[in-house]
Amino acid sequence: MAFQPYVRRIQLNDWAWQANEDLGSLTVYGRQVWWGLVFSWQCYLRDSMVQPQKLGQVVMQNGLFGVWSYRGHLWVSCQRATAQDVQNKGAKTKPRYEVKQQWWWEFSDPSIHGMMESMDRWMLGLKQQHEVTWSSLSKPKKAKTKQSAGTIGVRDNRHIPQWVKIHVVLRDKGRCVYCDESNIKLLEFDHRKAWSKGGSSKDPVNICLGCRPCNRKKSNKDWGWQ
Ligand SMILES: [Zn+2]
Repeated sequence: MAFQPYVRRIQLNDWAWQANEDLGSLTVYGRQVWWGLVFSWQCYLRDSMVQPQKLGQVVMQNGLFGVWSYRGHLWVSCQRATAQDVQNKGAKTKPRYEVKQQWWWEFSDPSIHGMMESMDRWMLGLKQQHEVTWSSLSKPKKAKTKQSAGTIGVRDNRHIPQWVKIHVVLRDKGRCVYCDESNIKLLEFDHRKAWSKGGSSKDPVNICLGCRPCNRKKSNKDWGWQ
């Protein structure tokens, strides 16, 4: 007879998340299952929207159970259950995505929260909440007669902010998007549309991970060399 894995969703009032500054802990049925950096937790949550992530184990009266995060929910499983079993069980569950739980919420400027959420939703295959177009963010809504000092700073700066870098590294999973190179010593941040041609350094959509050889080939083309 085929093995029937036990996988159940944990009800909201059976788990609790507590955070103290940078450290957080997850309690399931009153027992601590995971603790660590809030940032790592947010990365887990993010990855677990796509692929079940095993967080730890919990001891119950009838044995030891695995605890997983998947699609914004927590799951318990028997010891033998695999990520695939959790995925089979949870794939049809409505994802629970909370914008304030995302790692970038506190790092980024409130004016781009809408863009970040939209990008997350696009990457995770969730329904869009707001209509956001990337290009509308870099263009001023109406031509202003006076230019404020702030708008000059945004364009005239090649610097890629830390929050963009973190987002790009997570999204591209630490690999060159052109050839899949993962050697950290060769990886660089690449402007999809060259900065010299008006490509933004502040928009994660325009920044990707590329290895040095690929970036060299690409920038030669940008300058019209072969
Ligand atoms: Zn490459």
